[in-house]
Parts: sequence; C-alpha cells; structure tokens
Amino acid sequence: METPKTPTDLSHRIREGLSRVATAMRIDDWRRSKTAGLNPTQLSILELLEGRTGGMGVKDIAAQLGVSQPTATDSIAALERKGLVLKRGASADRRAVTVEIAAEGRSALWGDGAARNSTERAVEALPVNEQQDLLITLVKMIGHLQSLDAIPIQRMCATCRYFAPFAHADAERPHHCHFVNAAFGQRDIRIDCREHETADPASRAATWDAFREGSASPPPGS
Ligand code: SF4
Repeated sequence: METPKTPTDLSHRIREGLSRVATAMRIDDWRRSKTAGLNPTQLSILELLEGRTGGMGVKDIAAQLGVSQPTATDSIAALERKGLVLKRGASADRRAVTVEIAAEGRSALWGDGAARNSTERAVEALPVNEQQDLLITLVKMIGHLQSLDAIPIQRMCATCRYFAPFAHADAERPHHCHFVNAAFGQRDIRIDCREHETADPASRAATWDAFREGSASPPPGS
C-alpha cells in the first residue's frame, strides 16, 4: 500500500494523473457526442477526418483511434447513413476506399461552437510557461510512444520533413518551418498539423535528437 514514506514509482503516479485527465476528456467527449447525436467513436472519426482533405482509409482510421477495424467500419457506416461522411474509391477493391468528412459532418462537429471543454480550461488555468513545458513534455511522451509502436506516427513538427529544430539563435523563436519559411517558438510546436509531411526515417531520427536535446530541462538547482 502507498504511504507518504513509501510512494509508488513516479511513473506510476504520473500514469494515475494522466488517467484522471483521460476520464475528464472522456466525459467531455460523451457530452459533446450526445449533443451531436453521435457516440464518442463517431465523434472521434469526424475529428480525425476534419483536418484531412484527401480522406483516410478505414485501416488508418482504426490505427489512429486505437480501435479494431470492425468497430471503425461499423461507426463509419453509421456516419455514412447520417450523411456525415462520404466514401470514395473503387467498389471492387475495398482497400482503396477512402472516407471523407461531408459538409454536414463539419456542421455536426462544430455544432457547439467554440465551447471550451474542461481539459482546455484546466490547462488555461496554468501559468503560460507551465503550459509550454506541458506541451513539450507531451510531445516527448508521444515521440516515445511512437518509437515503441504503441501509436502510429503523429502529424507533429518533430516528425515533419519541414521542421528544423533550434535553427535560430532567437530564444523566443528558435525553430524553423520550411513549409511557411518562418521561425516559430516552443509554444507553437504542433501535435496535429495539416501541412505535416513525414520525414524519412534517417532525418526523422536526427531531427528528433536535435529537438529533444535542445528542449532538455536544466538539471535541478542549476
Ligand atoms: S509543416 Fe506543420 S508540422 Fe511541419 S514543421 Fe511546419 S508547422 Fe510543424
């Protein structure tokens, strides 16, 4: 049993904390999906497709959401019946089918306007420097999860072929995005960027090392 003198591992307690955050996010998603007349998986599919103009295959949708292909297929069929997504592709080759969000799907997704959910409000209650530190920590955690094959590669700057980490001496805007040819700061790092293009494995590894080393926190007491 955990006592003040015998705490469980730090990693275990952080997992417990993340689990509480995940619970709040699930509750938010249930409320939002109910308002839109959907279930949370259907809502997640619409959110995933919203930023992907070319659509996605069923297999990729399932992998990104961490659900089985039959679950994704059933949810996509329900969304199609409601007119919220469109399927495109050769009927003879089911693997070639892509799923795109329809205009009605976008309306359903943004039906509650710009309402802030409880997780966003909790983050906004933190000082700005702590919000930025949290973002960088999450990016690093997601990077490790990708390297463990626990999740697919995400559309983050750290895996993007346009990303040049710490290319500038400016401490406020040390990074460079070659897509828009502009410098940007740590707080502007993207986790799901529409313009992202995955870098080849060798440059991805080099970019990741440069980003991680440049973002390393100074040792305690320094
Ligand atoms: S295109 Fe997007 S993901 Fe890539 S470096 Fe620029 S902002 Fe980051």
